[in-house]
Amino acid sequence: MSRPRGRFLPILGRTSASPESIGLCRMQIFVNLTPCRMPFLCRPSLQDRPMLFTWLKQRRRRQLLGLPFPPEWDGVLDTNVRIFQDLRGEEQQKLRGLIQVFIAEKNWEGCGGLVLTDEMKVTIAAQACLLVLGFDGVFFDHVLSILVYPTTYVVPEKSVDRVGIETEDRSTRLGEAWYRGPVILSWEDALASGRNESDGHNVVLHEFAHQLDMINDQSVDGTPPLATPELYERWTELIHEEFQQLKRDCRRGEWTVLDCYGTTNIGEFFAVATESFFESSIAMQERHPQLYALFCEFYRQDPASR
Ligand SMILES: [Zn+2]
Repeated sequence: MSRPRGRFLPILGRTSASPESIGLCRMQIFVNLTPCRMPFLCRPSLQDRPMLFTWLKQRRRRQLLGLPFPPEWDGVLDTNVRIFQDLRGEEQQKLRGLIQVFIAEKNWEGCGGLVLTDEMKVTIAAQACLLVLGFDGVFFDHVLSILVYPTTYVVPEKSVDRVGIETEDRSTRLGEAWYRGPVILSWEDALASGRNESDGHNVVLHEFAHQLDMINDQSVDGTPPLATPELYERWTELIHEEFQQLKRDCRRGEWTVLDCYGTTNIGEFFAVATESFFESSIAMQERHPQLYALFCEFYRQDPASR
């Protein structure tokens, strides 16, 4: 199964494509290049982060969570976010609250002439917030902006070969996640991802999984913040094992639950496995029981049981 081109992950410093060169609307890119010198100590759990919120932010969030959820937004969830119907009542209610805060706090901008609507924001926010449904008080604070193009978009991409010759190509993208910067999405693909629950592909889940991966530092190593050192050890061992297995299966041309795009690198493996965890949960549980259980532990959700 081949994946359309475009699940790229531009990390500033690893790519020659600057935000300006790809015409990111009027958004500023917020970059924190301060490296973490003690990576392990810089891996607080997602649960620890809310302790750093300001009192004002917490108060604002309490106000947002106290607002009624607009009925027309429920209509959008019914139509555009198939997975919402699988959630239990209390999960749906919690997701509604996450959506309200997420939409209010992010800087939204339509690109390529797109005029953003509430439908677009709710559809994207619902899928993004599904990833943090199992946590309390996690709202992707490090993602300040969401940029949305009408459809796939093309950006120039420079590469330098081993002898230093620079070539410029053009790259078609469905979405991107920038370190300490925005998430960029094609609306057409974000909508298709929301409506098609079980194809295993979801560009919104994919890009926000990259953002979880990058919470602590710029390295996209397939390791989001984990709750304990013991979980960190188990995580590292298992995802590298599964990554190597996927590479072997894809090389042999075997059918796989996880998309072979996940063989690109360990960061893409985590993003692709996250898509499968939510969209092909039963198949993933059957074919990759250990990986599925590990993801249940991290995400604090069990999608296959819904
Ligand atoms: Zn990716």
